[in-house]
Amino acid sequence: MTYVTPHPSNTPGDFGRDLLSNLYYQRGTTLESASAQDAYHSLALTVRDRLVDRYIRTAAAHYQANPRFIYYLSAEYMLGKQLDQNLLYSGTADCARSALAGLGLSPAELDALDVEPGLGNGGLGRLAACLLDAMATLDIPAVGYGIRYDFGIFKQAFEDGAQVERPDDWTFYGNPWEFHASDDQQTVGFYGHTEPLDGVRKSWVPGEIVMGEPSHMLVPGYATSTVNIIRLWRARASRESFDLSRFGAGQYGEAVEEIVRSENISKVLYPDDSTELGRELRLKQQHFLVTCALRDIVRRFRLRNSDWDDFAGKVVIQLNDTHPVMAIAELMRMLVDEEGLEWDHAWSITRRVFAYTCHTLLPEALETWPVRLVQRLLPRHMEIIFLINHLFLREVSARYPGDDGKLRELSIIAEGDEQRVRMAHLAVVGSSAVNGVAELHSRLLAATTLHGFAELWPGRFHNVTNGVSPRRFVRLANPRLSELITERLGDDRWLSDLDRLGGLESAADDPEFQERWRQVKRLNRQDLADQALATTGVALDPDALCDVMIKRFHEYKRQLLRVLHVVVMHHRIRRGEVADVVPRSIVFGGKAAPGYYAAKRIMQLANTVAGMVNEDPAVSPYLKMIFLPDYNVSRAQLIIPAADLSEQISLAGKEASGTSNMKLALNGALTIGTLDGANVEIRDRVGAENFFLFGLDTAEVAAVREKGYRSRDFYERDEELREVVDTVARLEPQIADDLLNHDEYLTLADFRAYVDCQDRVARAWRDTAGWTRASILNTARSGFFSSDRTVRDYCRDIWHVTPVPVGE
Ligand SMILES: *Cc1c(COP(=O)(O)O)cnc(C)c1O
Repeated sequence: MTYVTPHPSNTPGDFGRDLLSNLYYQRGTTLESASAQDAYHSLALTVRDRLVDRYIRTAAAHYQANPRFIYYLSAEYMLGKQLDQNLLYSGTADCARSALAGLGLSPAELDALDVEPGLGNGGLGRLAACLLDAMATLDIPAVGYGIRYDFGIFKQAFEDGAQVERPDDWTFYGNPWEFHASDDQQTVGFYGHTEPLDGVRKSWVPGEIVMGEPSHMLVPGYATSTVNIIRLWRARASRESFDLSRFGAGQYGEAVEEIVRSENISKVLYPDDSTELGRELRLKQQHFLVTCALRDIVRRFRLRNSDWDDFAGKVVIQLNDTHPVMAIAELMRMLVDEEGLEWDHAWSITRRVFAYTCHTLLPEALETWPVRLVQRLLPRHMEIIFLINHLFLREVSARYPGDDGKLRELSIIAEGDEQRVRMAHLAVVGSSAVNGVAELHSRLLAATTLHGFAELWPGRFHNVTNGVSPRRFVRLANPRLSELITERLGDDRWLSDLDRLGGLESAADDPEFQERWRQVKRLNRQDLADQALATTGVALDPDALCDVMIKRFHEYKRQLLRVLHVVVMHHRIRRGEVADVVPRSIVFGGKAAPGYYAAKRIMQLANTVAGMVNEDPAVSPYLKMIFLPDYNVSRAQLIIPAADLSEQISLAGKEASGTSNMKLALNGALTIGTLDGANVEIRDRVGAENFFLFGLDTAEVAAVREKGYRSRDFYERDEELREVVDTVARLEPQIADDLLNHDEYLTLADFRAYVDCQDRVARAWRDTAGWTRASILNTARSGFFSSDRTVRDYCRDIWHVTPVPVGE
């Protein structure tokens, strides 16, 4: 069979012609009468068309090779804008620009209509996007699975300094980047009861059926032919759930209610990123995702294979945190109940298929579900989990005879007033590999949170340090720096081989190169200043040190410590102690979960302090502070290239890895940070002399707590701290009260070290050449933090897959 393979050519003439054709046939209009949305959608389709050929060839190559696939399951994705990405990855950015100019269309106006897919909250979702990007770039056969939420993230605005959440209706005008695939719909059951079959087999009779309807978006690799996909599932009411008798009886409203209830499953993502929520709808979402994904994986497996014994050779399912862990029980159910495999046979397949990435050490973020809820919603899965646990505990007893403490510690079921399912335990028991996301994190996981498991199965535990896409966070975010790097290195191969940045080391002391490096930073700060003025009305000085803290608001990340230092600078400048002060622009970005009041208070304080600083004529020549609302990937792309100083100041032992620390270092920001998460590895690589280290390390944190930490002692001993806390007490009394009486995250214990370290930052900034050198070296030595390296680590240590190149 021959395919008609349209190879859309990359000349402005052809691009323009295809755009007009899409305008005409897809939007039913002409250039003269096209709305801005018409023009944007036609542009998007014209760019998308240029990836389709590669996608078709990728699918054919994968079919041919019948390789082992990576199936990445994640409840969240933060993909960022697709237009800039796909223009770059299809190599059509220049010809699109000329074509648009020829048609009298403005690229900037059309880009403004490209919206970020709202499918995630923060770092976990962005990591998923960076890994998919790297897998495609490395020609790894992979599919990402997720939920196509209607509302996957809220829009943040401030009213009188307080966060208000607004719906982000990202699909309002339609999403030109996705393909619908209604033929691949899957059915998902909930509730109901089980009936015995033979042996351990049971039949589950669900009480409710919901349909999952997939669509996919293209995930192109950079400088390669591979285009993978991310498949997103939307809940639809099944035909059976139309209650015809009610329709007949004129109860239209009641009949439709059922439909609404079903479709609610993919309506919203709970906007919390790191505390456990325990809402029934969330468990429904999780089961919905894993069932749709598993059935799709099996459908794909059967295209070329038929023997279950080949399944684990062809399928790796990577679980991004515990949200998709119910897949372990669901696969067992499919294999045992539906396919009739023996339990042990099914278990050996299941265990080999799954791998689990843990993203936290915080006990409050470890997901558990009440047994009673699971029993009601997923009765068969609960039985299967009990059986998995029973057999697992037998293994534990054999290893630790008579040690009931061990059984309690490791059991998948937590006993107590109410029994709960520990999803992380199920994940470890049901996977062949478990990984943390930075060296320190992996070490602490094995030493504390999952200690018992690491003792039982040491070979199962790995570290895979996170990484970020250099395409997204250097090339697209920072075109000026990219151009300078390419010029110096002679070509742009560094974009898919980031260790080549090492070639910049020799330029670090070159005064001419330094000058150009500074010019890039200054122009980027000017861009940020322009945007900041437009959105906040505050005028930043493009020559001031740009000092940024961008991440979700969470107490452990200690945005509060950052604010305390701003208050210190404010006091000092007012008193005329400006010797150690250099002009700074303090930039904040980040959202707080809507119900996380402590974080929201800190946000309110930050906004109040910003107003205080900016409106004080004695202070504002030295200090400006902005809080850019609605932090997202696009805002990250604006802020990161402008940054000189990267604030990574979490309490040691709390941040699993962090990735904004990597993005910022790659863009030449120096880090001020604690020995936490990936900061440790950043410092090791860029060199201690190019990193501002302060604060307690994990051992010292433990020692401080051991001795009985009293934050008030620090307050009483340090006059400057006293003054700052007293100011906070006037602005937000509850925060000052918490600091003095609880201070869970040792903010006051680290205060003095932090402020003194910030004074070192100011002195270093005055040495322009020295600072620029350190900035260049941060970039030159951060190649390790490419998500390409992360994916290579997964391939080598966990997935055991090799690339499948796609021919030209
Ligand atoms: C990178 C990124 C994050 C993660 O930031 P951390 O500092 O690692 O917590 C969150 N949100 C967005 C939009 C990002 O790009």
